[in-house]
Amino acid sequence: MIKTNEIKKRHRILIVDDQELNRDILETILEDEYELCFAENGKEALECMQQDVDNLSLVMLDLIMPVMNGFEVLEEMHKDEDLRKLPVIVLTSEKEAELKALELGAVDFITKPFDIHRVILARVARIIELSDGRQLISKAERDKLTMLYTRNFFYEYATRLFTYHPETHYDAIVLNIEQFHSINAVNGREFGDNILSSLGGIIRTFLSETTGIAGRFEADSFCIYCAQRDNYKLVLTHFQNEIDAAFPNVNVHLRMGVMLWQEDLNPITMFDHASTACSKVRGNYSNPLMIFNEEMRQKEILDRRLLNDLKNAVEQNQLKVFYQPKYDIQCNPPKLVSAEALIRWVHPELGFITPGAFIPLFEGNGLISVVDNFVWQNTTEQIAKWKKKFDFELPVSVNVSRSDIFDGALIEKLNELIEKNGLNHNDLKLEITESAYTQDAEDIVALIKKLKEAGFVIEMDDFGSGYSSLNMLSAMPVDVLKMDMKFIRNIAVNETDRRLVTLILDIAKHLNLTVIAEGIEYREQLDILKKAGCRIVQGYYFSRPVPAEEFEEIIINEINTERN
Ligand code: C2E
Ligand code: MG
Ligand code: MG
Repeated sequence: MIKTNEIKKRHRILIVDDQELNRDILETILEDEYELCFAENGKEALECMQQDVDNLSLVMLDLIMPVMNGFEVLEEMHKDEDLRKLPVIVLTSEKEAELKALELGAVDFITKPFDIHRVILARVARIIELSDGRQLISKAERDKLTMLYTRNFFYEYATRLFTYHPETHYDAIVLNIEQFHSINAVNGREFGDNILSSLGGIIRTFLSETTGIAGRFEADSFCIYCAQRDNYKLVLTHFQNEIDAAFPNVNVHLRMGVMLWQEDLNPITMFDHASTACSKVRGNYSNPLMIFNEEMRQKEILDRRLLNDLKNAVEQNQLKVFYQPKYDIQCNPPKLVSAEALIRWVHPELGFITPGAFIPLFEGNGLISVVDNFVWQNTTEQIAKWKKKFDFELPVSVNVSRSDIFDGALIEKLNELIEKNGLNHNDLKLEITESAYTQDAEDIVALIKKLKEAGFVIEMDDFGSGYSSLNMLSAMPVDVLKMDMKFIRNIAVNETDRRLVTLILDIAKHLNLTVIAEGIEYREQLDILKKAGCRIVQGYYFSRPVPAEEFEEIIINEINTERN
């Protein structure tokens, strides 16, 4: 018989006693504060708990009962993962029973005959409050999908292991799924969730056989802090095989970064390093495992240094704009037609830094706009100076990064610079690297159209270096293709490269696009390009990028040649 009183209260208590009198007394004491339900023996009590475990806050359990006694109920509850969490107050008249009940998981006792009512109410309230707190923690502690720890708890427990168990050497592992967002996009979120939950299960099984803990942070980022082992390739292969077996019809590729135990390195630093290692193998399907190494550590230190120093660099004039000429080689002799502005950083301690060392770093976090705005401002001022000084038409291209494109004020900024320096739109050309076109292609096409309407010439930089397939070209409203250097490098010795270049030139002609060949270093390369019909080239053959003062000599040289 299960009887529930009508008053709806927040906490629900199950009272289990075979004596009606005892049930009635407890009802009288508790009914104003709690919602109550009752059972007459252990079997009924268990049924009630199983049906209602999520709504129950407390069980008050008599020990001596027919059918199934209180000890047996405690034993059964202990076996069940959910029921184990319910707090139980034992109702007993026998002192000796207390220890056994405690061992079986009871949290408190109320002795019969029943105590002063206020004491019982206070005990019940205290136990419920404690249990509420614990449940709150256990909910926040685990990620629902994978049953692994959430970030804060993961770090809390990892720090405890690190602090209190220095005898165990823990390695840090970061595990990611390649292109997880695409898997979600193609197969639906629910499917993505299935993969995450499955991977969670695989990791939990792995941890049941070793010492350690695991957590899941953002979407597909898994962290494992586990006792040191020597073959991580095996671990990754095992995870990958399990995932393949669970999802035989979908390609799910895992990648793994590992930071091996190092004395005195706390878990947060360990996982930073593991995460860096993991990002190094993004997209590397043939070799998806990376162990953090000294070279990466040095690079991280350098990166942090550069990020810190950029503000000073701008204020203290450490950034310099260099210029590299572009020549029309169909003229005889080749004619200087334009230039590209390229940034350099002359660091007071680190010396001369090429853009390859900092541009990708700043592109990753938006700081690139600081560099680019600096270059645009300097370049427009320089163009104005040269115009005035030499009365010579020399358009200069500046590089525009992907993140600049998404700066809503880009066109305004550029127009302002042009106006301020008395230039027109032909004086300043814009190079946008090919890889910028591949993602969010529609937004980029729209912006480039606007830039063109505003009067700018758009050059697609590094054409052929990435994925921009030829069929994208017709949709891209660009004016110029800057062919990537890799096509030119072996053009004099490699027949295939030569044919590719000819093909690109043909297509460009068809689409009415000018082609600029970059990276011309030798006479042979120049001759081949000239013969193939390429008009404009840029490269060390003519000049390396040089400071503005040195570039003036190139201009003067050109003016003199043209006069003669
Ligand atoms: P990019 O825009 O494709 O610039 C051409 C790069 O090729 C320059 O390297 C140039 O020095 C180099 N180069 C030119 N001719 C030759 C040659 O004959 N042989 C060889 N081996 N290299 C040659 P740099 O100046 O190191 O710039 C590298 C990249 O950094 C640039 O590639 C561009 O993507 C980026 N970058 C440079 N300055 C800026 C800037 O102000 N803003 C942005 N967003 N990116 C910049
Ligand atoms: Mg460029
Ligand atoms: Mg380029």
